[in-house]
Amino acid sequence: MEKSLDFYFSKKESLAVRKPIVAGNWKMNKTIADALKLVEGIKQLFKDEQKVDVVLCPPFTALADVGEAIKDTELYLGAQNMHAEKSGAFTGEVAADMLRDLGCHYVILGHSERRQYFKETDEIVNKKAKAALAAGLHPIVCVGELLAEREAGRMEAVVGTQVRGSLAGLSANDMLKTVIAYEPVWAIGTGKTASPAQAQEVHAFIRKVLKEKFDEPVAQSVRIQYGGSVKPSNAKDLFHQPDIDGGLIGGASLEAQSFVDIVRGAL
Ligand code: PEP
Repeated sequence: MEKSLDFYFSKKESLAVRKPIVAGNWKMNKTIADALKLVEGIKQLFKDEQKVDVVLCPPFTALADVGEAIKDTELYLGAQNMHAEKSGAFTGEVAADMLRDLGCHYVILGHSERRQYFKETDEIVNKKAKAALAAGLHPIVCVGELLAEREAGRMEAVVGTQVRGSLAGLSANDMLKTVIAYEPVWAIGTGKTASPAQAQEVHAFIRKVLKEKFDEPVAQSVRIQYGGSVKPSNAKDLFHQPDIDGGLIGGASLEAQSFVDIVRGAL
């Protein structure tokens, strides 16, 4: 099945109609055989693809096989990272065109683990986002504050700087193809979820930053996911906040039933 890279809303619809998007970030988990078992489980359980974009982000080693397994479905393939350069002497790295070659439509950029362990800065994330867009990929750009930053009342300063820096120089058209994932670092893999009200507050703030950078229609059209210990039990409340358009899911995306239950929270 040819999956269109066209923007997700019909040109006839209002700019503010945002289709929810739920992505599973499998991180450094799953052999190819395990990845294929998970995909089969998801395919069997989930039948409402028209209503929510579902993106599977396996490790690089399983991208080709997972891509093959979902090619006749409406599930999308995403990668967890890429290099900003097109090609060259960057041992161990993978370029945007290579991900497109494998059938990827999305790529996660600037995940807090990349920022923390691999020292990725907003500048690096920005270069990667531009390279991804140039190759026809939709970047999922992650932002989020540390607990100490939140407690010091610096949440808006930190998230605002990350949004402005990571998205610097993008055209409005590029921005519309980009997804933002708000992931408070203190909620990732910790079991501590932001309350729906806490998450909504930051999502609304991110739209305010987008409005300053672009305009109201762009701010209202960009999809912003929440990520951080999303589970079947809290997904619906989070995803039904007015400025939250689905989620980026780590641990709970490694098991078909919990991932699909979370995806259903976005319906
Ligand atoms: C993530 O790593 O993007 C994430 C949200 O992880 P978890 O759902 O496990 O908190």
